[in-house]
Amino acid sequence: MNADKLSGKGLATKIIHAGAEPDPSTGAIMTPIFQTSTYVQTSPGQHKGYEYARSQNPTRTALEEAYAILENAKYGLAFSSGVAATDAVIKLMNPGDEVIAASDMYGGTYRLFTKIFEKYGIKFIYVDTTNIDNIKEVVTANTKLIWLETPTNPLMNITDIAAVSVVSKQAGALLCVDNTFASPYLQNPMDLGADIVMHSATKYLGGHSDVIQGCLVMNDKELREKLYLIQKSCGAVPGPMDCFLVLRGIKTLHVRMKQHCENGELIAHYLRNHPKVAKVYWPGFEDSAGHAIAKKQMRGFGGMISFTLKDDSVEAATKVLSSTKVFSLAESLGGVESLINHPASMTHASIPREERIKNGLSDGLIRLSVGIEDAEDLKKDLGQAIG
Ligand SMILES: *Cc1c(COP(=O)(O)O)cnc(C)c1O
Repeated sequence: MNADKLSGKGLATKIIHAGAEPDPSTGAIMTPIFQTSTYVQTSPGQHKGYEYARSQNPTRTALEEAYAILENAKYGLAFSSGVAATDAVIKLMNPGDEVIAASDMYGGTYRLFTKIFEKYGIKFIYVDTTNIDNIKEVVTANTKLIWLETPTNPLMNITDIAAVSVVSKQAGALLCVDNTFASPYLQNPMDLGADIVMHSATKYLGGHSDVIQGCLVMNDKELREKLYLIQKSCGAVPGPMDCFLVLRGIKTLHVRMKQHCENGELIAHYLRNHPKVAKVYWPGFEDSAGHAIAKKQMRGFGGMISFTLKDDSVEAATKVLSSTKVFSLAESLGGVESLINHPASMTHASIPREERIKNGLSDGLIRLSVGIEDAEDLKKDLGQAIG
């Protein structure tokens, strides 16, 4: 269904029906996979709104509508990966423009900024965004974008989105929030003043570890046109099969997220009480630094948890990482199955060691994507691995 038909409906109803209309030619309840590169025109320029599949594809259109509905935005755009979505946002910048970004964020975002875009004369300034004063200090007349990630990957730091949006508006800069960790089920940055929300749909939105995809949503029509121009000109679009997989994944987002949250809470407390564990990073702890803000802007705390052992060595961490049997050692997150990951050597290896340590990401840090298996099995598995 489209946004009008779903207005006033509950979140679960929106999640299940967003973007999905019965196929007009057959009545198929599921959006067909339009595996086509082009569309026949009746006479030159006479078509049904679809000309060439890099520019438009009906399976993608349905998904883009769903993305917008889930994030309470007007427009959605799908990309071939999360980083392709991020890439499109940075392509809004001109040489000389400044971007303020979180010092603790997804390693691939950092790599894209430093290794690809810096050479085009775009300046990136990294600050600890959990303290709003750090952002205010570096805002200049050239600040065109503030890039936030909350909760952050992998330290689960929380930034006050509404407070940053006040700063971005004063500066005349765009605010883009990477909402991958929370998913639209737990947090809607557009409602808190963001101009763009970005997702790696590879994670919770897809939910089944079977697709790579990204998205952007926005309310401003002009901004949508600029990003659509980048999407079709640069061509990082997802294929129709991948769009179908994400459409299908989204239908159970609420059911999965509820269980991720429940299991996440159980595992976070289990680890915190474990004698060999030093610190557990999870925004649901009442005494965690970001808890009050997380409670204000999120509807739950999710299934992402990081922790360190009292023996914070690579060796001790490696022993745990190679001993779990239910948790699989792999990058990525947000799928139904539990994953365990070593940020320093895996997801965040592209960040120089000094930068990592400075930001509190130690060599021994272990990150969990808690899946939706039986929590008892997950606890037992961690217990035997930690020893
Ligand atoms: C995975 C991830 C990305 C990148 O998305 P891809 O789909 O892998 O390109 C960006 N941000 C966060 C927080 C992620 O976890």
